[in-house]
Amino acid sequence: EAQMPPGEQLPRYVRVNSLKTTVEDVVDYLKRDGYTYQGQASRLDDLTLKSKNFVKDMHLPELLVFSPKTDFHDHFLYKAGHIILQDKASCLPAHLLNPPSGSHVIDACAAPGNKTSHLAAIMKNKGRLFAFDLDAKRLATMSTLLLRAGVTCQQLANQDFLKVNPDSPQYKDVEYVLLDPSCSGSGMVCLQDRTAADQTRLASLAAFQLRCLNHAATFPRLKRLVYSTCSIHRQENEDVIAAFLQQNSTFRLVPLLPQWPERGLEPLSQCLRASTSKTRTHGFFVALLEKHSEALSSTP
Ligand code: SAM
Repeated sequence: EAQMPPGEQLPRYVRVNSLKTTVEDVVDYLKRDGYTYQGQASRLDDLTLKSKNFVKDMHLPELLVFSPKTDFHDHFLYKAGHIILQDKASCLPAHLLNPPSGSHVIDACAAPGNKTSHLAAIMKNKGRLFAFDLDAKRLATMSTLLLRAGVTCQQLANQDFLKVNPDSPQYKDVEYVLLDPSCSGSGMVCLQDRTAADQTRLASLAAFQLRCLNHAATFPRLKRLVYSTCSIHRQENEDVIAAFLQQNSTFRLVPLLPQWPERGLEPLSQCLRASTSKTRTHGFFVALLEKHSEALSSTP
């Protein structure tokens, strides 16, 4: 009778923080700690795990997957910043943006900073990572999280991203932007009852999301821009991307992970979606935009 909320049935995902350790070392540590390693998953059902069994994810290289009841909040590896507790879908944006070590990157709406720390790990802490958030309290949480994760390449600012001046000399080499703006949160399994689709609210969120995208597009050296939400509504996802593409003809969508089981709604199948049923994650959307090479080549 008593039905478990679906959130309780999602696997627990653990991202190994490569700034502090390796997947191999974490697997060894957990084996000694009573967990049973079952190798790399190869299909969705392999992510449905019992008790202390765990696997390596099939899509994301530094992701380990545990049973729904697993709780690492008091675990040494978590407290020491060796592992980050982050849903699989929310690991996609930084992984797909994949900024090279040494590059200049903006995380536009960054707090509490899980994606920022993921970007820093991909960049091997080299380069510059400008992270903005409007909310001072969330930004304070973020400083703690980044310190624990050993992130050192960041520059945090309590600032409205829409007011960041793209022509300021400090951003002249920014080629990568991650944009994960406020959204309805309708993809969060635990919030689903509380996020009834209020059309007025969705329209205003979508307008904000599009303004953020348009603003990101004005950074002079921008090459790649990843957009993500934890919303399941087309209005905040494909519709925002379609409007952006219409207004910014120098950008195109990059086709993402052909092996990923859930795509953006037609015609935007280059984008990814995620859900409890198809990917065993929270509901999520991600798009990768790239500036045409012709648009990047400097005029003589
Ligand atoms: N990327 C974060 C992570 O992975 O941990 C989560 C970001 S959350 C979805 C959206 C964030 O955007 C919130 O922390 C909110 O305070 C911030 N935000 C909202 N409007 C903003 C604005 N105009 N400029 C900068 N940040 C903003």
